[in-house]
Amino acid sequence: MTEYEVYAIKYAHHMRRASENFIGGAMGGDAHDGPMPLDYFVWLIRGDGCEVVVDTGFSAPMGRKRGREHLRCPSEGLRLLGCDASRVKDVVISHLHYDHVGNFDLFPAATLHLQDVEMHYATGRHMGEERHRFAYEVEEVVGMVRRVYENRVRFHNGDSHLRDGISLHLIGGHTMGMQSVRVNTRGGWLVLASDASHFYANMEQTRPFPIVYSVGDMVAGYERLRSLAASPKHVVPGHDPLVMQRYPAVKGLEGIAVRLD
Ligand SMILES: [Zn+2]
Repeated sequence: MTEYEVYAIKYAHHMRRASENFIGGAMGGDAHDGPMPLDYFVWLIRGDGCEVVVDTGFSAPMGRKRGREHLRCPSEGLRLLGCDASRVKDVVISHLHYDHVGNFDLFPAATLHLQDVEMHYATGRHMGEERHRFAYEVEEVVGMVRRVYENRVRFHNGDSHLRDGISLHLIGGHTMGMQSVRVNTRGGWLVLASDASHFYANMEQTRPFPIVYSVGDMVAGYERLRSLAASPKHVVPGHDPLVMQRYPAVKGLEGIAVRLD
């Protein structure tokens, strides 16, 4: 089976408090509330002459609109790793929230891989509710509909084989169609959770993140992520700054990219 190199590329940062990262109350609220910032990533999978990008991040103008510190265009981060975004053939969209799908125009050659139920969720009845729609940008959702009409979206219905050694897994929870990516590496099965677990603490302590469609699916998802990976250490959360500390920096790209495999 093909073994891939996997990289996390940090492109943005946001300072917030721990109490904003866990559902509150006795079941998980943080009694010792303090700073607990988020990093924002896209991920590159490379091997066997192919490159797969997971998520496309947001742009600098969107960072200003949302009050997030934008550090670099995700395509610039990819370029620093020798990956030309304009030539990438496959982009997995973990879900359609603004911080995961914002730059898909930078990938004109790519097929976009999305779960059926994520498009259903982002265009359906739940978007009438502010608490479900506020992390979506309507123009990006409409943009994805346009890509469907251009035949550039490949839909997946649940767990799905992407190519030798790479599979997609419907986790749900955070959004209806949240999907994670499993990759075969020299160190065994690695799982890019994306927002199936924002932080290590969400999955390790079973303390769900508060932006959630289904708490039940989110909690079940933590166990599912572990079951897909070679070990619990092989699950990479979607927004935890610890990722930049736990994995070795790519030489010359300290603070920008780490190697996960
Ligand atoms: Zn996110």
